[in-house]
Amino acid sequence: MAFPCSGCGLCCHHVDRSEVTLPLDRGDGICRYLDCVSNRCRIYTNRPLFCRIDDSFPLFAEKMTLSEFYRVNADVCNWLQNEHSAPTSMRIKLSEK
Ligand code: SF4
Ligand code: SF4
Repeated sequence: MAFPCSGCGLCCHHVDRSEVTLPLDRGDGICRYLDCVSNRCRIYTNRPLFCRIDDSFPLFAEKMTLSEFYRVNADVCNWLQNEHSAPTSMRIKLSEK
């Protein structure tokens, strides 16, 4: 199982929204490593740990379950998508167990 990122790219366009990702800001909120033409990360295989939802879960495992961690992240994704009127087909829908 992996976090079902829909690839909207909005987290990479708003790295200024979090103190964790702020150092990636090129000055306008967009990550310095985002290719704005393709909407792809230019350092994808070497991107920081905090850009890897599944890989960063162990840092939070003592505080929440994986399902809860996914929910927190999905809420941020969907909040950003709602704020920017992204297509509803890109919303993160988690299966509830
Ligand atoms: S905001 Fe969420 S769905 Fe969009 S690219 Fe980032 S992690 Fe994926
Ligand atoms: S390093 Fe890559 S995945 Fe991380 S915010 Fe920048 S463009 Fe997005």
